[in-house]
Parts: sequence; C-alpha cells; structure tokens
Amino acid sequence: MAVLPIRTLPDPVLRRKTKRVSTIDKSVKKLIADMRETLHAEPGRVGLAAPQVGVSLRVTVICLPGEGEKDVILVNPEVVRRKGERLVSEGCLSIPGYVGDVLRAESVTVKGLDRAGKPVRIKAEELLSQALEHEIDHLNGVLYIDRMENLDTLRKIEPEDTEI
Ligand SMILES: [Zn+2]
Repeated sequence: MAVLPIRTLPDPVLRRKTKRVSTIDKSVKKLIADMRETLHAEPGRVGLAAPQVGVSLRVTVICLPGEGEKDVILVNPEVVRRKGERLVSEGCLSIPGYVGDVLRAESVTVKGLDRAGKPVRIKAEELLSQALEHEIDHLNGVLYIDRMENLDTLRKIEPEDTEI
C-alpha cells in the first residue's frame, strides 16, 4: 500500500469523465487499498475519488470523521435519487485551502458495487450524502466550484472545515 499524491487544479485528470470498472481485479484492489491509505494519511480528509490520485476510474472511498477506518468503498457509484435541497459549506482536497457554499441534496440514494463486486444501495443524509454527491461529481469531471452560484463565497479554509 502507498500514500498517493493528491492531484490539484489545474490537473486535467480532474476534468476527465472516468471509465466504469469492468472487473474488480488485482489492480483495482490495489487502487482501493492505496486510496484508503491516502484518505487516512491526514486528519480532516472525508473522501477521495480515483481521479484525485490520477486514475480515471469510477472508484470512491469515503470515511466520516469519528468512524475510524470504517470506509464506504464504492465502485461504479451513481446517484439514483436526490431529495430536498440545502446550502452547505464544502471544500475539496484538489482545491486546497478553500471552501465555498454549494447547494446539495438533503438526502441521496446511491447504487454501486462494494469492493467485492456485490451490488449495494446506500441511502444517506447529512455529511455522507454531501460526500457521495461530491465524489460522484469527481467521477464526472465536476468540481464543487462548478456548482457554486456565487464564486464570491469562496473563502479561506478554517481548521474545523473538512475536505472531500
Ligand atoms: Zn473533492
């Protein structure tokens, strides 16, 4: 396993639409292990999408603060339902040092595969819902700044903010 460097803007890999994983083979398993290690390498990291470590595949790893290493690992995830709307403060490891206000759903239902390739369906609220939307956006080459209605709300990050 290895801690991988995190790609930041304007790295073009962040703007590329990723490919679906056809088989969870050895290389995908290694990617997941490396992404988990990278996610836990520093406190305050909530989630990671494969393009953030330079790999254009539909793989995400999320771990909520206080959940230890109980990671939500999803392969080929997609949002199948969005409910409600709320304005949240959001940051991204690929846009270091900043947070901005973004409209996100109140809850989402996401389907995908777990790391064993088994189909899973997750209904999420609060930070997990936000993180799922954020990471799935990454898989489509979308960053939270694209969803900001007003770029003037972009501000310097405070220690209590999280980056996803
Ligand atoms: Zn991000």
